[in-house]
Amino acid sequence: MKTLTNIEKNFLMESIRDVPDFPKPGIVFKDITTLLNNPEAYTMLMDHLEARYEDFGLDYIAGIESRGFIFGAALAAKLGVGFVPVRKKGKLPSATIAEKYALEYGFDEVEIHIDAFAGNEGAKVLLIDDLIATGGTAAAAAKLIHDAGAECVEACFVINLSFLGGVKKLADLTPHYSVLEVG
Ligand code: AMP
Repeated sequence: MKTLTNIEKNFLMESIRDVPDFPKPGIVFKDITTLLNNPEAYTMLMDHLEARYEDFGLDYIAGIESRGFIFGAALAAKLGVGFVPVRKKGKLPSATIAEKYALEYGFDEVEIHIDAFAGNEGAKVLLIDDLIATGGTAAAAAKLIHDAGAECVEACFVINLSFLGGVKKLADLTPHYSVLEVG
């Protein structure tokens, strides 16, 4: 299942619940918990990602907190590669490097363990998250992978909110792939 048919994409899209006005008025939150608790949808998605990435020669998958952990850890186990968490500031217990990024109001920060890829200089890493919106989180995570001495070979999202143009922030950092586009 290297490419999904439109029928399969529609099935996945319909398995994701839209929650209007969460976490604040005007935002339509894409709730992937309804995809996760639908075994046919979750298996279809994970089988598709496995088929897409099995020949990439990956060394690690890096997942962005927290929904990127769900897809990333499951895919890492399928592909037999390591999993590395990219977490919000202050959550990782050992020495970290951090990257700040701008939000609509203020800043946020993500971190990775400094030794996440230690002993594996130039490791090939797939970055994964459930959704790309403005692209700030994924761009910061891709920078962290580079700064930790590895190569981000692709950033993968289940959903791209393409009307927000977030993938532009990845242009100089990494190729990208999104399973579903919301225009
Ligand atoms: P951004 O940095 O703007 O690309 O935001 C991406 C992060 O915020 C991802 O980790 C998403 O899970 C989350 N996110 C942003 N917008 C939404 C949305 N409309 N529905 C669900 N998650 C979202």
